[in-house]
Amino acid sequence: MIKTENLTKSFGDKQVLKGITEEIQAGEVVVIIGPSGSGKSTFLRCLNLLEEPTSGKVIFEEQVINKKGTNIDEIRTKMGMVFQSFNLFPHLTVLENITIGPTYIKKVSKQQAEATAMKLLTRMGMTEKANVYPKSLSGGQQQRIAIARALAMEPKMMLFDEPTSALDPEMVGEVLQVMKDLALEGMTMVVVTHEMGFAKEVGDRILFMDGGYIVEQGTPEQVFGNPQNERTKDFLSKVL
Ligand code: ADP
Ligand code: MG
Repeated sequence: MIKTENLTKSFGDKQVLKGITEEIQAGEVVVIIGPSGSGKSTFLRCLNLLEEPTSGKVIFEEQVINKKGTNIDEIRTKMGMVFQSFNLFPHLTVLENITIGPTYIKKVSKQQAEATAMKLLTRMGMTEKANVYPKSLSGGQQQRIAIARALAMEPKMMLFDEPTSALDPEMVGEVLQVMKDLALEGMTMVVVTHEMGFAKEVGDRILFMDGGYIVEQGTPEQVFGNPQNERTKDFLSKVL
């Protein structure tokens, strides 16, 4: 579904991605782990061109997308992104947060967008929150709405950047459950997380990043059970 070829990204003279060649298959759940500052967010943001790669290629559905003439808005509708900070529009209701993308960007009728939004709210167990504003919701509820908002665009894949890191501990589970359900439905997902339980249980493949490289990857059994690289071992000894 998406691949990168020798992807690099520099900020000024600081190279933070040092040549990443990677491929993510349709239906795969890839979990990226690694220490803070290793380039996980930058890699994710290069996939949907929130960051412009410095060199190398990002190839989405067989098309090189980091080149002149790419319709970035169209690409982004196909890749839903969920951030650590929920980024809901504070002045819009929950329902409006979910319908604004489909109606304004995809030109779906308001009626149709609302029907889709209510289905998503049902699935999140949050129909009664349709007409409230985000500030009245808990962090876990806001993050579930952020996921619903991304799904309303009917993306081909979903990118998650530490979606539970800003949540109180008791709310982490409800967000991970929504992500797990999505994975079971076959959504292609790339997830940066420190939730090692989720990584083990839901990940098809684990990428360990350090210093701008993917230094090790494999199945959860391989990476957690029998890490090969010293840096992976060191990282896992601190987080497990
Ligand atoms: P991670 O998500 O693994 O913690 P990041 O991808 O956020 O790592 O960051 C990797 C490195 O790139 C860090 O050293 C960070 O300070 C730097 N960096 C990230 N974004 C920017 C930016 N917009 N400008 C300058 N430096 C940045
Ligand atoms: Mg990050």
